[in-house]
Amino acid sequence: MTPDPLLGSSVPLVPPLYQSSVYTLPDLDALDRIYDGEEPGFIYARDAHPNARLLAEELARMESATWAIVCGSGMSAITAAVLALVQKGDRILAGNRLYGRTTQLFVQELSRFGIETSLVDACNLDEVGKALQTPAKLLVVETLSNPMLRAVDAPALASLCREFQCTLLVDNTFATPALYRPLEHGADLVVESLTKMIGGHADVTLGVVCGRNDLAQEVAQQIAQVVSIWGLMSNPFECWLASRSLDTLSMRMRAASANAAALADWLATRPGVRRVVYPGRSDHPDHALAKRLLGECFGNMLCFELAGDREAVNRFLRLAKGVPFSPSLGHVRTTCSHPFTTSHRYASKSLREGQGITEGLIRLSVGIEPLDRIQREIDRGLTNESR
Ligand SMILES: *Cc1c(COP(=O)(O)O)cnc(C)c1O
Repeated sequence: MTPDPLLGSSVPLVPPLYQSSVYTLPDLDALDRIYDGEEPGFIYARDAHPNARLLAEELARMESATWAIVCGSGMSAITAAVLALVQKGDRILAGNRLYGRTTQLFVQELSRFGIETSLVDACNLDEVGKALQTPAKLLVVETLSNPMLRAVDAPALASLCREFQCTLLVDNTFATPALYRPLEHGADLVVESLTKMIGGHADVTLGVVCGRNDLAQEVAQQIAQVVSIWGLMSNPFECWLASRSLDTLSMRMRAASANAAALADWLATRPGVRRVVYPGRSDHPDHALAKRLLGECFGNMLCFELAGDREAVNRFLRLAKGVPFSPSLGHVRTTCSHPFTTSHRYASKSLREGQGITEGLIRLSVGIEPLDRIQREIDRGLTNESR
């Protein structure tokens, strides 16, 4: 490596931001050596750039993955994985509670290219086993679903997939590698939106896809190519920002999970709250499974249902100003959303009713503020009189 004449023998403690779309090369031989993988180096940032590489290496370590590829968003990470794996005529199995855009990708977009998707209840292993009797290339599930936080038995799904030679792709966005590492439990591929808890500061849009086993090793090359050809690459500055977040992820997830657990129990005692949905509570349908998978940290997401409907929600949003209405999740500060009018706005009435997504349901993305500060704000929202 040629030393940087500007720096001499000093090396920056913090990895620099390489905000360059292209690199210069001394000659054709150097270019060939980079293309042939004989030496490290970069040519064009849409193919690869140092900040994505550094972020990916750190994420791979956290996920127990052998490789990771950072993409421009969570959706582009899912898209890259799927485009690299499926061919025209292939069948995909997808959980029926997936992130809305993911469901649209499979049902509305991929069907235009001759790839069919069947939706299954991924919480029901018998149903998944039956669905797998018709050959499927890929099973796609989420560790914890939005907004009802239904958990899937990833190890059991992984052994079903092995039996039927189906690739298991787990979207681990709601758990993060701080709470769960699906690759350690038999998943073939993991994707996460770094836009949420992993980025953690509501200032980047990024995603990652990573893998571990031999099947996925060759898939990594294909995904890297898809990222460049379909234009799904991240940009350096956002990768640089996201790298800063990784050192605090575990601390943030533990602190936010502790806040969420305490808030869930506290909310259940508040007048005007009809029910609370949190996998750490024994009244959640997947409590035992979530405990087996996650241990003592059940994540920072929870839902509660107000006794009134739309007007009660409007009153809450107007009064609880310290818990901003912000239809995303994973910020260090507590925010809230309303699945009925945001993430599930275009879902059918029967789907919303089937999953319990009512007009009174509020979703909290719990942050790491002192618990009493969050409680004070929520209490403001729960009072009946406006102030
Ligand atoms: C937000 C989200 C995505 C998409 O990520 P983007 O970074 O917004 O593209 C995918 N899956 C889940 C579970 C999400 O919450």
